[in-house]
Amino acid sequence: MNISELYKFKKTVYSFEVFPPKKAGSVETVYNTLYGLRNMPVDYISVTYGAGGSEQQRQKTCEIASLIKKEYGIEPISHLTCVGSTKEDIKEILSELKKAGIQNILALRGDMPAEGPTVMAFPHASDLAAFIRDTDPFFNVAGACYPECHVDAANLEEDIENLKKKVDAGVTHLTTQLFFDNEIFYTFREKVEKAGITVPISAGIMPIVKKSQVERTVAMCGASIPPKFARLISKYSESPEALNAAGLSYCVDQITDLVANDVRGVHLYTMNNVDIAKHVTEATESLFKSVNKL
Ligand code: FAD
Repeated sequence: MNISELYKFKKTVYSFEVFPPKKAGSVETVYNTLYGLRNMPVDYISVTYGAGGSEQQRQKTCEIASLIKKEYGIEPISHLTCVGSTKEDIKEILSELKKAGIQNILALRGDMPAEGPTVMAFPHASDLAAFIRDTDPFFNVAGACYPECHVDAANLEEDIENLKKKVDAGVTHLTTQLFFDNEIFYTFREKVEKAGITVPISAGIMPIVKKSQVERTVAMCGASIPPKFARLISKYSESPEALNAAGLSYCVDQITDLVANDVRGVHLYTMNNVDIAKHVTEATESLFKSVNKL
């Protein structure tokens, strides 16, 4: 199924993200995760892709996406990065994905390696999106966006101009980098609309449930921590159980506010943790049912 169709008949779409384990031979851990997620009311599940990944890694993404579709009947999106790939590499991956029946691709550039990429066949995700569109109309292409500006862009205005190029290249919906401050997302949404970008945007939300996660997440994606959230982290940082409860509650509040403010989608970064996904899903299911009139 082409996922862009979902946004046509649902007011707010709900999705998960999972990742293939980094260690070779531990792919069963994600299979256990998917087994745990299988009956949750989710519209699609996306599977990440290691930028500049080995043959083995890329097969894992395709294998997991295929399992989501065939075993659990849930529509998958396979992430695909292009940094360091040739056109032939991408053609080969597209053919593997098509063979596995995977129609939806999140087209990404991927992070630049410190020493710079060896191959620059696709300088930006927009080049990959256009290439997929022109290679085979079977595929539906999605893209990423950054409410707090991508780290390589001079400013948000420039980043949004570049985002428009990605949408013009055929991207049918966008998923945001994770954020903790909904006001930042609402301002971004307004600016994006003013720039003439009309495709649906799903909000990427990550529940923070451990102290170690806070610094790692902020360093990785530069998300700002609003004072309300900072207070929770500092208050409960020495009590794992309390921090887990406070983090989940903050995440549910964030989603509640987003749905009330007509967000087109909520994309939950599950971190392959079934208990967290279950808690957040059960706490918010009625909101999605209500706005989608199910
Ligand atoms: P781009 O859209 O190419 O943007 C990168 C920079 O180039 C930006 O500064 C942008 O303003 C600029 N730019 C974009 N297009 C143009 C243009 N046409 N002309 C000039 N400048 C331009 N990484 C992984 O390795 N694997 C994953 O599975 C993965 N999944 C992700 C999922 C989501 C939802 C998000 C938000 C990120 C994900 N990432 C993943 C991280 C992502 O690969 C990095 O953030 C990467 O640095 C940028 O990728 P992009 O596709 O957003 O790049």
